[in-house]
Amino acid sequence: MIVAIDGPAASGKSTTAKKVAEALGFAYLDTGAMYRAVTLAILKKNIDMNDPVALKMLLDSMDLNVSTKNGDTVVTLNGINVSDHIRSVEVTQHVSAVSAIPVVRESMVKIQRDIGHRSDCVCEGRDIGTVVFSDAEYKFFIIAERETRAKRRQLDLRNMGEERSVEELVSDLKIRDQKDSTRKHSPLTRAADAVEVDTTHMTLDEQVMYIVSKVKKVK
Ligand code: C5P
Repeated sequence: MIVAIDGPAASGKSTTAKKVAEALGFAYLDTGAMYRAVTLAILKKNIDMNDPVALKMLLDSMDLNVSTKNGDTVVTLNGINVSDHIRSVEVTQHVSAVSAIPVVRESMVKIQRDIGHRSDCVCEGRDIGTVVFSDAEYKFFIIAERETRAKRRQLDLRNMGEERSVEELVSDLKIRDQKDSTRKHSPLTRAADAVEVDTTHMTLDEQVMYIVSKVKKVK
C-alpha cells in the first residue's frame, strides 16, 4: 500500500511523512533526497547537465542507496554517507535544474517504484501521486503560505548552524516553486484525487493526526 505525499519545498511534508510512516508502521521514502544525491554526484564530477550521454553513464554507474535510521533519511552514494552534503546550499540551488532532466527522472522513478513495491510505504516528493504511484491508495498534497514555509526553513537551518533571513528564504522558495511547477516533465501539481492539506495554521502533530486518521478511516 502506498501513501503518496506531495507538495512544494518546506511545506512540512518530509517531517509529516516521516511521522505518518512511523504511526502506520510503514516504510518511508524521501524522493527529494534522491534528486539531491544525483545533483551532488553531478557537481562533484563536474558533469555537463546538457550532455545526456554523460548523465546516463553517471546514473548507470552510480550506487545510490536510500534508507531510514531512527526516523532520519540516510543516503549513501557509492558507499559514502552523503546525508548532510545533499542538504548544502550548493546542492539546493542546483537540484531543481537537475530534477527537470528527463533521463534523471526516468532513472529515479524506476528506483522509487522498486522500493515502493517492496513494502507498505509513505512516499514523499513532487510527482508521487501524479506519476510515480498514480494509482496510490491515498494521496495528499501539502501546502502552506510561502512566508510560513520560509520561517520553518529558517528554524531548520538555524538548527544546522546556518543563519538566513526570512526575506532571502522567501525569495529562494519562490524560485524553486516556479522551477518545480513549470518544468516540462512531471511538474509539481496536485493529483486530481489528492486531498489538499493546508498546514499554514497547523502544528506538526495536527498534520500527522489528520493524515493518519484519513488513512485509518478508509482502511
Ligand atoms: O523535497 P526536497 O526539497 O528535498 O526536494 C529537492 C528537489 O528535488 C525539489 O525542489 C525538486 O526539484 C526535486 N524533486 C522532484 N521530484 C520529487 C522530489 C523532489 O523533482 N519527487
